[in-house]
Amino acid sequence: MHVAIFSTKSYDRQFLSAANAAYCHKLSFFDARLSAETIQLATGAEAVCAFVNDEVDRDVLAGLASRGIRLVALRSAGVNNVDLEAAQREGITVARVPAYSPYAVAEHTMALILTLNRKTHRAYNRVREGNFALEGLLGFDLNAKTAGVIGTGKIGEIVAKILTGFGCNVLAYDVRPNPACEAMGVRYVSMEELFPSCDLITLHCPLTPATHHLINAEAVRRLKPGVMLVNTSRGGVVDTRAVIKGLKDGTIGSLGLDVYEEETDLFFEDLSNRFISDDVFARLLTFPNVLMTGHQAFFTKEALANIAETTMANITAFEASGRAVHEVTVERGRG
Ligand code: NAD
Repeated sequence: MHVAIFSTKSYDRQFLSAANAAYCHKLSFFDARLSAETIQLATGAEAVCAFVNDEVDRDVLAGLASRGIRLVALRSAGVNNVDLEAAQREGITVARVPAYSPYAVAEHTMALILTLNRKTHRAYNRVREGNFALEGLLGFDLNAKTAGVIGTGKIGEIVAKILTGFGCNVLAYDVRPNPACEAMGVRYVSMEELFPSCDLITLHCPLTPATHHLINAEAVRRLKPGVMLVNTSRGGVVDTRAVIKGLKDGTIGSLGLDVYEEETDLFFEDLSNRFISDDVFARLLTFPNVLMTGHQAFFTKEALANIAETTMANITAFEASGRAVHEVTVERGRG
């Protein structure tokens, strides 16, 4: 198949080309994000391959359908950037990579937790400047603390397991409790109970209408003062303005983010020679107790190899049978 691949970086090209050696599809790589402005790049292709910040909305899907494209193969697990109902109306199949390495995301979550707690990012700079003072670096023992995991699917389950290993008492909230978590001693509670009980809360649910701004002003008011909040799921799960207010009044003791609700115009690009025009994001960067990474939780060799392999399997199966291996249903988008 001829596949137009959007939002590609050197590492995407490397891993997708390697996986394609066994399949021999014709791959056209584009740096550009897929949007109404760039859709013409897909002309002549039979499928498009998109990533987390590509805009696969109603207009784009209509444009793809008019070009004869029948498959959107996502290189992600999350499907929140695709209008699934419009895809169904246009007769376009949407496929995704349901699991590529939950360990990658879970381990990055732990990197944020440990760095925020023990402030190794600040210590690194201090020591290199000959500053060995410890003021401002005080952390806390994770052992015996209460950690809350919201969303205990593939990633949340591994995070819960690691936190249990650290000696945390793990509480969880999920619309569908995971028996593997219950077996390891995780206790499912309501969000009303979880919010005020936890010293640390980490988010691992998908972004759906039900989880949009799950952490809003009302939720922040119910948190245990000084809580550490970590989000490696999707930016829209957190109302950034409400969280900034919580940081300013001390309700939120520290914040770790790998995702941001308006990340589309920022992440995955080198903007170091420009100024940041997003004032909310800029405000976040002024807090010493905020640690942000640019949507890199997935970024391990194993994950990239699995993403490339599953994407090629989706495309190949669709070409052979009209069905991709991991098709996305409209229900998944509703959560
Ligand atoms: P998963 O589908 O295995 O698990 C998601 C869990 O969330 C499920 O147990 C589900 O029941 C639960 N859930 C759904 N709606 C909920 C709600 N309203 N409240 C509470 N829980 C709810 O998904 P996963 O593989 O564990 O991934 C979780 C999310 O992590 C993805 O949806 C994606 O947005 C994000 N993610 C981020 C990165 C990154 O690089 N930062 C990489 C991969 C995935």
